[in-house]
Amino acid sequence: MQILNYINGALVPPTSNNYCDVINPATAQKINEVPISNSIDIDAAANAAQQAFPAWSALSNNERANYLHKIATEITNQLNHLALAEVTNSGKTITQATKVDMPRAAENFSFFANTIKEFESENFKTSDTINNQVLRQPLGVVACISPWNLPLYLFTWKIAPALAAGNCVVAKPSEVTPLTALLLSKICIKIGLPPGVLNIVHGDGATTGNALITHPLIKAISFTGSTVVGKHIAKVAAENLIKVSLELGGKNAAIVCADANLEHTVPELVRASFSNQGEICLCSSRLLIAAEIYDSFKEKFIAETKKWNVGNPLLTTTKVGAIVSQPHFNKIVKAIATAKAEGGTLLLGGNVVKLSGENENGLFIEPTIFENLPNTCSTNQDEIFGPVVTLQKFETIDEAITLANQNQYGLSATIWSANEAVAKDIASKVQAGVIWINCWLIRDLRTPFGGMKNSGIGREGGTEALRFFTEAKNVCVRS
Ligand code: NAD
Repeated sequence: MQILNYINGALVPPTSNNYCDVINPATAQKINEVPISNSIDIDAAANAAQQAFPAWSALSNNERANYLHKIATEITNQLNHLALAEVTNSGKTITQATKVDMPRAAENFSFFANTIKEFESENFKTSDTINNQVLRQPLGVVACISPWNLPLYLFTWKIAPALAAGNCVVAKPSEVTPLTALLLSKICIKIGLPPGVLNIVHGDGATTGNALITHPLIKAISFTGSTVVGKHIAKVAAENLIKVSLELGGKNAAIVCADANLEHTVPELVRASFSNQGEICLCSSRLLIAAEIYDSFKEKFIAETKKWNVGNPLLTTTKVGAIVSQPHFNKIVKAIATAKAEGGTLLLGGNVVKLSGENENGLFIEPTIFENLPNTCSTNQDEIFGPVVTLQKFETIDEAITLANQNQYGLSATIWSANEAVAKDIASKVQAGVIWINCWLIRDLRTPFGGMKNSGIGREGGTEALRFFTEAKNVCVRS
């Protein structure tokens, strides 16, 4: 019933003996205790990583790739076990965990195992006798910090490229969802990952997170989470002059043009709005609809959303599971009240759902749709990160682009139109790092991933991630 840290190849308790409860949000039952590790634990992990670094970075790319492939295989072998742990801890549906989160966690390792083999140094030939070779060398010990919404998926998205590039890692999962990170520790022990190469230290932001980001051995921080914490991490990184990659919040617009095929668009946009209870940074939350089709879109969108039933996350028939934690549940309930106070018209949902049996105390909220809210109000400006969306009408494409860009965030956007040229033109003008046209959340792991404005700095994915986790060194040779 107590989660252990993974430091120097072994599972160990925190030196403080300080823990907090881990809750299943679908039942409100306590399922475990997570350490609140302190600076002594972080120091032990960072030193173990530092000691492991010379041997790990000296391995060939193929040798490191072999370890990553073994981890990927083991995640696949244990997929159902891992998925169950993720559902029990986060409230997400079993379908999401088995079909999306766990396959992707395995793919993160296998993808970077393959990609590192092709990550070759660049050459610039200046003349017949002068050649520049750009070496890409690992940084040393790096920190990876992840949030609760896609726990193992996002944790491994950082760890895999860091290890592939030859770094040793101190990683901290969210204190809200630590279970699958513990299982990953056990997998690393099972496959024989050398001690110290990966260290997983559990705890909160204030104690554990701050100890990690300020540790003098840390050479780079890869962070996914809220914009507030991201800005704090950027300040700390600036003070220590270390690299930082920040994947932060979003308030993603969907632009539905008058010629969009609604048969296809509506179910896809419902999925984009309410998958994982709306707790995906890429979920659409501001749906901008061409005036000509507004009424017909609205009617179809409401009808389709009604099919998304709220229920026990363990049932394969459930589309919307539990909200991850009581504080986050309270935040969403408050956001719904704010939308009403701001004059929004509630089209669907808006209520807390009381289930029965073992889920009677669970944290469930109906998929919720508002309209008649100005783009400048808090409901349309601030991230809710739950199953709440708004509909807005636009008269011209220029107005749609203005509405989409009138926001502090710039993570992702979707555009729906039968005219690909028009959609591509809109894409070029929308301020977002990731744009989908007539689709949502199709991910090719080779592509750059990340946001603009308050959604972050830097890009993850493919060679972008490998570049982040390496230092470029130019060697100019006269021969
Ligand atoms: P959060 O910022 O509260 O926490 C994220 C992680 O940072 C956790 O592990 C937390 O313990 C840690 N942390 C908190 N304070 C810290 C500190 N001072 N020093 C070091 N670490 C600290 O975010 P959250 O509530 O866990 O996640 C939700 C947020 O994550 C949303 O804003 C969502 O949009 C964002 N998110 C972004 C992406 C993306 O790719 N851009 C993906 C998923 C989630």
